[in-house]
Amino acid sequence: MTEPTKPLITLSINGRDISAPESLSVIQALWYAGYPRVKGVGCMQGVCGSCRILVRRGDSNEVSTELACELLIEEGMDVHFLNFPIPAHHRYQLDDIPSSWEVQAKFHDIFPEASECRHCGGCDSTCPKGLDVQKGVELAVQGRFEEAGEQFVECVMCNLCQTACPEKITPNHVAQFSRRVTAHFGIRPPNLIHRLEKMRKGELQIVE
Ligand code: SF4
Ligand code: SF4
Repeated sequence: MTEPTKPLITLSINGRDISAPESLSVIQALWYAGYPRVKGVGCMQGVCGSCRILVRRGDSNEVSTELACELLIEEGMDVHFLNFPIPAHHRYQLDDIPSSWEVQAKFHDIFPEASECRHCGGCDSTCPKGLDVQKGVELAVQGRFEEAGEQFVECVMCNLCQTACPEKITPNHVAQFSRRVTAHFGIRPPNLIHRLEKMRKGELQIVE
């Protein structure tokens, strides 16, 4: 028995009108229509954030940010894939930070614009993962890096937050810094800390 043919959905992707069976994702629809897009397609599991898109539905003037590997096509949808030039990255080496006492000062050297956050909420609105991006930046500015990093656990590095920021803050890179310094300076094996403390107090002797 042959499977019933699925109805075709008509939509526009980067200005091209295409038709594809319902229940396909935007990327699958693109492939179905014969466009083997490679750039802007990554993990296909909603993790890497490479396939960020702007979407307008039907007659609505509202534009949302989505991931093309997750979003199912709808009739009349207008989709635009986004490609951004890679911004000048904030370069740093964790080994150049002498101790955890220097982390906050170093953060402000590397990300001087972060403390200019005007709390406009643009980053929150644009984040396809619904993260509290602004809060994460604020926590990092306060030197609360562990808490800042926790705000971004679901971040897919799609870069949409930084394109929304009028102060040219890169919240996802602030997040990476926060998580890296937390791991580098903060997380030590508790049993090792305990033993070192015992040695410092002379309670644990090393037998040579
Ligand atoms: S925090 Fe920024 S980079 Fe991360 S998922 Fe949200 S918009 Fe994308
Ligand atoms: S978009 Fe930029 S300025 Fe606005 S709240 Fe987010 S980080 Fe702050």
